[in-house]
Amino acid sequence: MNSELLKKNEELEQFTYIASHDLQEPLRKLSAFSGLLKKDVGKDLNSRAEKDLEYIIDASQRMQALIQDLLSLSRAGRMALASERIDLNELIQEVKVSFKEEIEQSGTDFKTVDCPAVHADPVLLKQVFQNLIHNAFKFNNKEKPIIEISCTKKNDQTIFGVKDNGIGIKPEYMEQIFIPFKRLHGRYEYPGTGIGLSICKKIVEQHDGQIWVESKIDEYSHFKFTLNAKEN
Ligand code: ADP
Repeated sequence: MNSELLKKNEELEQFTYIASHDLQEPLRKLSAFSGLLKKDVGKDLNSRAEKDLEYIIDASQRMQALIQDLLSLSRAGRMALASERIDLNELIQEVKVSFKEEIEQSGTDFKTVDCPAVHADPVLLKQVFQNLIHNAFKFNNKEKPIIEISCTKKNDQTIFGVKDNGIGIKPEYMEQIFIPFKRLHGRYEYPGTGIGLSICKKIVEQHDGQIWVESKIDEYSHFKFTLNAKEN
């Protein structure tokens, strides 16, 4: 039963990869040629036709972003897992530097603690922190945003945390947000494609860990995850 399931899962992964990979080519054409059409005849179009063309361009760009994300999701599950000793403090500093602009613009108080070294896949682990921290910036309207990274030891296991003081998540959505493309807001309110957390979940589960969120609406979201990775 288990091996049947594994096989089915692999087939599904393969299908997602091929489908998203092959969809990219015609979409690129659609996007490029609608852009050219705008350049060639844009000035001669009446305002309704101009708007219609804008919709086509916008939709094809969004579809490209979705397909890119679908590919990233399927890649996250297909890549062989590396296991290296990672200085987590260094990794978190690197991620922090990549958000320098966001920190400065929003005046975020970005707090970190001393974290242990772990054995895990460095590229994938970095992506988990990057996605969670990106969301912590995005879903926060507070005047004084706070992001706190934590590593807490519990029963021989380290729980890694990314906490914000943002908009929070209602209890009924706390599991659903990890499903691909599940979003709780319109794209005009908060941009995004709804794939970041499902990539985090996939990566964490590849490391035999778990990911979940604790939250209070309008107060905070605290994403936590474990890795079944050796420390030191
Ligand atoms: P995206 O950010 O592209 O929408 P994600 O998969 O990263 O996709 O997140 C899925 C949804 O979970 C988001 O659209 C949002 O509704 C909710 N969410 C994620 N992170 C947070 C957070 N830190 N605070 C509040 N809501 C969040």
